[in-house]
Amino acid sequence: MALAGRRTGPGEGNGRRTVRTEAQFLKCENSACNKTLFVKEVQKHNYCCPACGHHFRVSSRERVQITIDSGTWTELFDELEPMDVLNFQGKKSYQQSLKEGRQKSGEKEAVICGACKVKGIETVFCAMDFKYIGASMGSVVGEKIARAIEYATAKGWPIVIVCCSGGARMQEGVLSLMQMAKTSAALQRHNEAGLAYIAVLTDPTLAGVSASYAFLADVIVAEPKAMIGFTGARVLEQAIKVKLPPGFQESEFLLKHGQLDMVVPRAQIRSTLGKLLTYATAGGARKMQDAAKAPRSRLEFAKAPAQAAASVTGNGQAAPKKKAARRKPAAKKRAAKARAGR
Ligand SMILES: [Zn+2]
Repeated sequence: MALAGRRTGPGEGNGRRTVRTEAQFLKCENSACNKTLFVKEVQKHNYCCPACGHHFRVSSRERVQITIDSGTWTELFDELEPMDVLNFQGKKSYQQSLKEGRQKSGEKEAVICGACKVKGIETVFCAMDFKYIGASMGSVVGEKIARAIEYATAKGWPIVIVCCSGGARMQEGVLSLMQMAKTSAALQRHNEAGLAYIAVLTDPTLAGVSASYAFLADVIVAEPKAMIGFTGARVLEQAIKVKLPPGFQESEFLLKHGQLDMVVPRAQIRSTLGKLLTYATAGGARKMQDAAKAPRSRLEFAKAPAQAAASVTGNGQAAPKKKAARRKPAAKKRAAKARAGR
């Protein structure tokens, strides 16, 4: 959650007082809400605004803490650290960016991976951290993700990746672009082994990450209002000289256009993952994969794993079911019209 550096008005300019108020309050980032909130209250609501539901960005550690079963985390591959192989010099050196990334996030790289349990199901879990150079994917991010997938394949476990990223890390040039192919190949082997992969897309998931592992999942879940896409909307508008529709590249827009399986508020992500993982490990992984590969809208198929998960857990995922219920009568009406017209 972006707490650091937030100004809080009266305390500003007075070093000691500012630090104290910053630790206790923050402003909601949603301009329509803009409420001053207790940090503790926000934390209690899974780092969401209690007034308007705005989802603050969370660090990789916070993500792990709010998603997995407590006390089950064993970190994997944390010995890997990035290097400045190309001796890259831009506005600032890559060395400097790495140093700042480490300071801001407290992590060695922009992703953490671990073995854990989610609602009692053994799984490999990866979470990206936007504070580390915009969670860009360099060689080490790609390597950690690929190794995490291979670890899950070897163990016969599903894998969950919580994505957020500005894209490939350009300071590593083609070495960062190669990670797209490497992670995709590892996922293909995981898929061939009949094991499930669930992606949770959070704000923002863009470029090289969205064009590789983020969108290769069997079930793609996203948080509300997350910006998801390849190229940013402003650059696209300039390039194609077309005004883009409102909400373009937001989760809800993507769901409507069949790019996602479900949009789930953060408070329900853990229980949703629990249902999907339960279904996948109870023999449903292949069905999930077939649904993801089928040449129809993902939306049509989203109901299948959710309904099946409901039969396993006795409590289904609401969003896709509602969609299905709304779609059915419309389809029947269309069929009736077609018959009448004949
Ligand atoms: Zn708010």
